[in-house]
Amino acid sequence: MNFSATPINTSGSMLTNARSVEKAAHTSGKEERGSMVMAARVASIKGPSSLTGSPASAYQTALAQLNAVADLLNLGKGLREHLAACKRELAVHFPVRMDDGQVRTFTGYRVQHNVARGPAKGGIRYHPAVDLDEVRALAMWMTWKCALVNIPFGGAKGGVEVDPRELSQGELERLTRRFATEISVVVGPEADIPAPDVGTDAQTMAWMMDTISMHRGYSIPGVVTGKPIPIGGTVGRAEATGRGIAVMAQEALAQAGGSIQGATVAIQGCGNVGYNAALSFQALGAKVVALSDRSGGVYRPEGLDVKAVGDCKGETGRCCDYAKATSISNPELLQLPVDILVPAAIEGQITALNADKVRAKLVVEGANGPTTSEADAILQERGISVVPDILANGGGVVVSYFEWVQDFSRYFWDLAQVNQSMERVLRQAFVEVATRAQEHRVTFRTAALMTAVSRVLEAIKIRGVYP
Ligand code: NAD
Repeated sequence: MNFSATPINTSGSMLTNARSVEKAAHTSGKEERGSMVMAARVASIKGPSSLTGSPASAYQTALAQLNAVADLLNLGKGLREHLAACKRELAVHFPVRMDDGQVRTFTGYRVQHNVARGPAKGGIRYHPAVDLDEVRALAMWMTWKCALVNIPFGGAKGGVEVDPRELSQGELERLTRRFATEISVVVGPEADIPAPDVGTDAQTMAWMMDTISMHRGYSIPGVVTGKPIPIGGTVGRAEATGRGIAVMAQEALAQAGGSIQGATVAIQGCGNVGYNAALSFQALGAKVVALSDRSGGVYRPEGLDVKAVGDCKGETGRCCDYAKATSISNPELLQLPVDILVPAAIEGQITALNADKVRAKLVVEGANGPTTSEADAILQERGISVVPDILANGGGVVVSYFEWVQDFSRYFWDLAQVNQSMERVLRQAFVEVATRAQEHRVTFRTAALMTAVSRVLEAIKIRGVYP
């Protein structure tokens, strides 16, 4: 199989309760993350500096990607600065009464990167490593993703600096309602529509929808997506991101003259995205040989029984307790000799420090920003193709868009219509990206970003936002 488009140098119901399973894990520990926040700020739009030797932050990666594409599109300084900046950044500090009677103050954010193409859209993350720069990066990627899959949304993201596994259900509800109230000044079905992300789920969205509806005095289902079906959610949303990842892998393999039948797959992350991707890969005939969560993973070269691993995780909270496979660490999983590697956990997992050890033929990015720009260049040099996050995990926001449309029209689709429509949108986006990659002899990531940024620029210009 040949995945490469001979790039030039461009370095510049499945498990819908995956998160409750996650919470059951309750393993402590904050994930390692380079504290590059200040470095990222001073890096401005120039992208990452490798002076410190630490892995680039998500924001540095996002800025470096934008800068590389801005070079290819010959953008002037003014437009670069406009696209690099987030339109609106809200930071909130709010009190929550804990079960023991103490009051804790939490910090959260809602950032809207760009709304030239429509209302802002993006998830809400509950994670101890959430900070303003991470949210900025994730908001920028949402702008590009929505433009790439050609849905009428801009990009946003939000989050609260908290480990949700340390909170009771009551504390989580109080935190969510207070946070929703704080950000309600910028949120609304025609302004900015949140959805679940790491550490949040359909229940979180139900509390947000209810809180904002209480403030306005009537029910507003379209204020969030990814909510439970009885209050205006859509069938197929919980599985959409994972399903889309498997479909994009299938397209990439087919384009390279291969087949997904029998292809081996290693997946990092066993939450909403990773677990549903694993089930979808299996349904398409691929062999999922490794799965992990933050506690570690399991490997079975003959193929895992994905559902059995999920059931085990449901019981003990950890994939690695599954007895019929070999235990492996997350770093080991990233280096397995497989056809397809799917990083589906958090950002910054494939870095300059481990990219030369990746042995997969194809990387399909389930998570947002799992590959740093430096690692991207190494993978490219080694002939390893990458289906970038803004394409690979776009199925989630596409079905969120369908949910929003259904909420407005008060008319709900069946599962076949949702799945078929999502797959059609993603396959169309893949064809556009692959065609551009071939025409310009660039990577899929560069082609995807060129398409997305061009669409945002077009909207900016037509609206007269930027002369
Ligand atoms: P989740 O909270 O449901 O699951 C995250 C998984 O990653 C868990 O299994 C967790 O244990 C694991 N994990 C966390 N830190 C890890 C680490 N350091 N090493 C290994 N595993 C680790 O979150 P999710 O909704 O599945 O989101 C995963 C990624 O996909 C995120 O980057 C998110 O932004 C992105 N994404 C999510 C959606 C969606 O619809 N939920 C859509 C597009 C992109």
